[in-house]
Amino acid sequence: PLPVVAVVGRPNVGKSTLVNRIIGRREAVVEDVPGVTRDRVTYEATWRGRRFTVVDTGGWDPEATGMAQRIAEQAQVAVELADVILFVTDVTVGITDADEAVARVLRRAGKPVVLAANKVDDQRAELEAGALWALGIGTPHPVSALHGRSSGDLLDLILDAL
Ligand code: GDP
Ligand code: MG
Repeated sequence: PLPVVAVVGRPNVGKSTLVNRIIGRREAVVEDVPGVTRDRVTYEATWRGRRFTVVDTGGWDPEATGMAQRIAEQAQVAVELADVILFVTDVTVGITDADEAVARVLRRAGKPVVLAANKVDDQRAELEAGALWALGIGTPHPVSALHGRSSGDLLDLILDAL
């Protein structure tokens, strides 16, 4: 079986957009309405000649009560099936309760986590990525899933962690 990279994070941070970058296709469903991705969707990807499986997670209604709890539960499931976790956050919003709930799960997981500070569309926004150190996950890596900014660097980091 191929190594598994699970992409976790609260709705609307850009997980599916980043998954499309990683697989080099437009198959993961990206929606302006958050919470569209089904529970877990699996894709195969190749980077620098290495094949791996990418799992896109989602499917929560962000208006539902207890959303942070359900996101944390989904992160827990993803953690159990993954070799590396890609934790996606949104620098334009900053840290939310749901981000903190995911971070708590990941800190306990004992598996390698790569922290993506997404929606860094330009150099100015890079400064905002520093705020994500507060999640206690390690270095926030600024990327723009939408424009592809630094997505290759992120993939290198993921493969290093596999
Ligand atoms: P998910 O719910 O985490 O899977 O998020 P999606 O991939 O569906 O994206 C949610 C919204 O954020 C969509 O409108 C995307 O176009 C937008 N988005 C994703 N990545 C970026 C980015 O790097 N920059 C900006 N500005 N918007 C982004
Ligand atoms: Mg999605």
